[in-house]
Amino acid sequence: MVDIGVSVFSLNAEEPFCRICHEGSGAGDLLSPCECAGSLAMVHRVCLERWLTASSTSYCELCHFDVNPSQWAVFCGCSGS
Ligand SMILES: [Zn+2]
Ligand SMILES: [Zn+2]
Repeated sequence: MVDIGVSVFSLNAEEPFCRICHEGSGAGDLLSPCECAGSLAMVHRVCLERWLTASSTSYCELCHFDVNPSQWAVFCGCSGS
């Protein structure tokens, strides 16, 4: 387990991970692009982009929320600067 040292993650019982590739935030920005919750809430930006391209859709397959990239919120703002 990688200690990422971000306090918000400690609020959760388990470290969030990408539902597509099952890697944690160490593999990229984790987003919560739709209304799915819990272990299904988080995806990497790159994984989601890849999935959207492969599936030719803009909707979450589980909750059918429109995962338009312009609506994505970055879950962890600690990276990129
Ligand atoms: Zn991923
Ligand atoms: Zn969803």
